[in-house]
Amino acid sequence: MAFEGLADKLQDTFRHLRGKGVLTEKDIDSAMREVKLALLEADVNFKVVKKFVADVKEKAMGQDVMKSLTPAQQVVKIVKDELVNMMGGANSKLTYSPSGFTVYMMVGLQGTGKTTTCGKLANYLKQNGKKPMLCACDVYRPAAIDQLEVVGKAVNTPVFTMRESDDPVEIAKAAVEAAEHKGCNVLIVDTAGRLQIDEKLMDELKQLKKNIRPHEILLVVDALTGQDAVNIASGFDEALGVDGIVMTKMDGDSRGGAALSAKSVTGKPIKFMGTGEKYDALEPFHPDRIASRILGMGDMMSLIEHAENSYTEEEALKMEEKLRKNKFDLDDFLEQMEQINKMGGLAKIIGMIPGISERDKQQLDFERGAEQLNQMKAIIQSMTKAERRDPSILNASRRKRIAAGSGRTVTEVNALIKQFTEMKKQLKMFNNPKAMKRNKLFRG
Ligand code: GDP
Repeated sequence: MAFEGLADKLQDTFRHLRGKGVLTEKDIDSAMREVKLALLEADVNFKVVKKFVADVKEKAMGQDVMKSLTPAQQVVKIVKDELVNMMGGANSKLTYSPSGFTVYMMVGLQGTGKTTTCGKLANYLKQNGKKPMLCACDVYRPAAIDQLEVVGKAVNTPVFTMRESDDPVEIAKAAVEAAEHKGCNVLIVDTAGRLQIDEKLMDELKQLKKNIRPHEILLVVDALTGQDAVNIASGFDEALGVDGIVMTKMDGDSRGGAALSAKSVTGKPIKFMGTGEKYDALEPFHPDRIASRILGMGDMMSLIEHAENSYTEEEALKMEEKLRKNKFDLDDFLEQMEQINKMGGLAKIIGMIPGISERDKQQLDFERGAEQLNQMKAIIQSMTKAERRDPSILNASRRKRIAAGSGRTVTEVNALIKQFTEMKKQLKMFNNPKAMKRNKLFRG
């Protein structure tokens, strides 16, 4: 998960401030020193850090005392607002051409995740009601064309290729025609990558830009390369002009410096972040939510969006009805677990819940969590329909059979049934406000 180190350090710093009733300039200075170190360690651009710290200090010192917030809370709020500013303010949305046919040109160095991102973007656009087509314009590496075809198949999107041509402009122009002919309304052009920025590549991209007039040029950069990613973004923007950045591999970047400083350094917004290798691992970049996550305020909006995308209203209503009638059975239990998987696994969900510190999150053994989910699934799938519907019929010999069938032990089968019974009890309580009041967990 991105920003782990930074989140821990900033949250520690603010924890120290929290105990104080009044903050002196000295308190703020020492907090700002820690914030500065934390940002530099996260690989945020030095100039950006300097300005950030100066801005926060100025605002913190000049702040009127707000009745609703403690001094420490006020500092946290200022830091949050400035983090959001640093990342460019509001979410910068992908735009569509008013003509009804949109061309996106994807550019970036080799290995950054450009081709994968083309697939992710096609997937994202389809979810948003668009009909995309992909176009392979890397004329140097036949393998790149093959790769885009594989990607296209995976996301169920047509791919335009023209293997006999070595002219990207000719290919892209033909692709526009083919896309329109096929009734598609978006063309995603995958261009050639290089190991580093060179003049020949830039000339080729400029030619493409001039001839196909893309609605947006999206630059793909790799978060793991830290400040190099930011420098590369500046280089591409100066030579070609880009409209937005896609920051990939955020899932593996524990520092987050590139994502934090890209906008301030290049002036170009990050529109999306890549958070995994799968084609659904592309998320719009929301500075506000990221700042909240860094400061331990959770990321409820992202959590809600995830839940909405993976749970249809109908499914939610069906589940609610079952709970109300207390008909929640082991099949529903399994369905719930599958929903969790669909939402990106427990690790992702827990990361978005407010109030859980980075340290606590690290103590949860996520790998083990995923493994346990699979084991539970094997056990439930080894039960008969009748057993799943009514686990109370599970006597010793049935449990033994299920254990053998799923390759688990009887103890594990027993543990799962206990867990299910507990969950059912808890859910029942949620549906009974009186019981909720009695439960000490819910006593304010
Ligand atoms: P290209 O050379 O720029 O077209 O890069 P590819 O699309 O071939 O991607 C290079 C590698 O990065 C592949 O193994 C991808 O699966 C991986 N990759 C791309 N985006 C992400 C991401 O957001 N997270 C992770 N973990 N891996 C990614």
